[in-house]
Amino acid sequence: MSDLGETFFTSVGCMDGRVQAPIEEYGQKRYGVKYPDTITEAGLVGLLANNPSTELLESIKNKILISVEKHHSKGIIVHGHQSCAGNPIDDETHKAQTEEAARVVRTFVPGDLEVKPVFVINGQNGWEVTEI
Ligand SMILES: [Zn+2]
Repeated sequence: MSDLGETFFTSVGCMDGRVQAPIEEYGQKRYGVKYPDTITEAGLVGLLANNPSTELLESIKNKILISVEKHHSKGIIVHGHQSCAGNPIDDETHKAQTEEAARVVRTFVPGDLEVKPVFVINGQNGWEVTEI
């Protein structure tokens, strides 16, 4: 058993498989934990930033609270990414949506748990996390 044990952070973003590994690595380093609880929809930050339905908000909130309350998540990463099939818009708008989605997620979370917006790009070394 490592010192990390069964420790978690929360990933909130697109279902796109290209972004999951870089987000996992970023969250592991940032929070010193092992596992991401992964909450996804196609183009999720675009959905959250554009007048989301109550049904979507309740679904996402419920999953986040399970991660926070049952898994004692150490932080929440909200992410958008380049070349998103579910949210095909320019990067600057997408980053702004990611920040807005992080503000929405913040309202779900008790206390001072970090909610960190990031943007995943297809860079020189493949898919990588950039801070907004
Ligand atoms: Zn996407």
